[in-house]
Formats: sequence, C-alpha cells, structure tokens
Amino acid sequence: METLQKQNNELTTASFQVKTLETTVKTKFSQKLENIGLFPFKPTEIEILQINLGKLCNQVCEHCHVDAGPDRTEIMTKEVLQQCLEAAKNQSITTIDLTGGAPEMNPNFRWFVSELSQLGKKVIVRSNLTILTYKNYLDIPQFYKDNSVTVISSMPCYTKDNVDNQRGNGVFERSIQALQRLNELGYGKEGTGLELNLVYNPGGASLPPEQMALEGDYKRELKELFNIEFNNLYTITNLPISRFLDFLLKEEKYEKYMDKLIDSFNPVAAKEVMCRNTISVGWDGKLFDCDFNQMLELGVASSSQNIADFDNEQLKNRNIILGQHCYGCTAGAGSSCQGSLA
Ligand code: SF4
Ligand code: SF4
Repeated sequence: METLQKQNNELTTASFQVKTLETTVKTKFSQKLENIGLFPFKPTEIEILQINLGKLCNQVCEHCHVDAGPDRTEIMTKEVLQQCLEAAKNQSITTIDLTGGAPEMNPNFRWFVSELSQLGKKVIVRSNLTILTYKNYLDIPQFYKDNSVTVISSMPCYTKDNVDNQRGNGVFERSIQALQRLNELGYGKEGTGLELNLVYNPGGASLPPEQMALEGDYKRELKELFNIEFNNLYTITNLPISRFLDFLLKEEKYEKYMDKLIDSFNPVAAKEVMCRNTISVGWDGKLFDCDFNQMLELGVASSSQNIADFDNEQLKNRNIILGQHCYGCTAGAGSSCQGSLA
C-alpha cells in the first residue's frame, strides 16, 4: 500500500513537470507555425467526419490513446448517430471514418454503416481485427464487403512477440486469422476495390521508420509467412498522451521524447496535419479538432460545438486548438490517421 502511495506521489510530481513543460512547449509550437505563416492555425476544408462510436473494446493495448477497454461504458447512442448521419449529408464531406474502442461493439453499428453507405460517401472502419474472430462478429467481414467499407487496422509488427507485447496475448494469432478471412473475401487484393490498410506505430519512445520501406518489409513477410496481402501500410507516431504518456513518465523518457519530436519539426508535415480537413466527433456528440484533442477534452473553438448543431461554415473558420502533443503530428515525415504526411 505504501509503495502504491509512493508511486502515485511520484506520478503526480511527474504530471506536474509535464504540465510545466507543456506551457513552454505550447508557445514554441505556435511560434513554429507563425514562423512558417500558419498561425493562427485554420482548417482548409471539412472533408472527413471521424466518429468515435464508443470506448468499449475487447483489447487493452499498451499505447491506446483512447484508454479503451472492456470495462468502458461510453457508447454513442442511436440519437447521436442520427445526428451524425444528418451532418454526413453535408456536401463537402466525402469520407466517414469510424473509430472507437472497437466500433463494431456499438449495438447500432451495422445499422449505422448501412445508412452511411447509402449516402454514397467513402466509409472507413478502424477495426482492431481480433473482434472479427469472436462469435457475434463473424459476419462482419462479409458485411464490410457488401457495404464497400475500407478497413484500416493496427498491426504494429509482423512478428508474434512484438504484437502481443504491445496489444496483448493472443492478439497476433487472431489478427492473422482476421486478415486471412478478409483476403478470402477479396480485401487487399488487386482489382477488387476492397481496400485493406495496416497501421504501424513504434513499440517505444522512437519515431516510426520510413513508411515505404517498412511497407515493403511487411508485404514480403506477411505474404511469405501467412499468405496475407494488403494495400497500404500507414506509419503513425505515438502522441504523448493517455497510456503512452503514462509509459513515458514511468520509464522517465518524457522529456527526451518531447525533445526528439520538437527537434524533428517538419514544416511540410505541419501544412498537411489531419485537423485541417477533419472534424472529430466524440461518443457523446461533442466536436473536436482531432481524436487527440478529443482525448484531452479540448473542444473546438467554434459556436458549433456539438454534432447536433454541426455548421460547416462556422467550423471552417475556427482556429485549431494546439498543444504540446501536436509535435507528434509534425515530427519527421509527419503523422496522421492516413500515415505519414511528407
Ligand atoms: S484495439 Fe484500439 S481502441 Fe482497443 S485498446 Fe487497442 S488501441 Fe485502444
Ligand atoms: S494533435 Fe490534433 S490539433 Fe494537434 S496538429 Fe495533430 S491533428 Fe492537429
């Protein structure tokens, strides 16, 4: 008990140091954007609605920035889903990107995806793959095919140990099963139009390697070892928030990691970060500049703050809320939900 108290005290001290550093870094990030003529930071267009269907998940991954897991009760209701559908009809929106938790675990998931696909928009589901191997979800791969859903899935390595260390025991094996099932249906195969993309994020406090080269390694290894094919690999930088921040603090790597992100600031990536063409919708309908600002509860700086009163013009004119975590999007080749940027 005493040890736990000591750990808590240490974490509180470390959190305080992070807060102090945040204030300094925040100014520097704005300054960096000002230096390249990008401050105040504005959207270019609102093309993507990224919707968090809830924090419920069958996994508890080490670096999850949503803090998702089987015990989470936050789930988007049908009423809020209806409001998302209305907003999705907006002409400028071309893509609906569904995330979670495991989005499939929302009880209205199938209904919602069917409605979206009838709107003629591109529908992306960020699936953790393992959920597709459980009894109540075995129909989902076929359902994805029937609704022309693009599937994007985390696969932090092509080896069992690395995947299971980061995402939990048994995740690798189930992920391979799910990928093989998707391949059987035509996903990831040339000429089918059924897109299957994988996501890599580093296991520790480092930046991802070059995307194209890593994609080549993944394609070779997954084909040789498991006869698996996919379309693209997206490399993503771990942002210093939620569980990954806890990990950095515990390992006393926070400052070094932040220095690395700051030193690797890339102006080309800064122009392309996802908050410039995306609006993120929280499970309760609140609007955010991105998934990360959502987890930090930094709501949009606009009079349109909820999906119920979605106003494209108001949102297009807002200033994007920035913080120290933004350096994660602009470091090196940059990072977004669609992989590297530059
Ligand atoms: S599968 Fe995704 S949402 Fe679920 S715990 Fe892992 S990272 Fe988080
Ligand atoms: S963390 Fe969010 S707000 Fe900051 S640059 Fe990245 S996408 Fe934009």
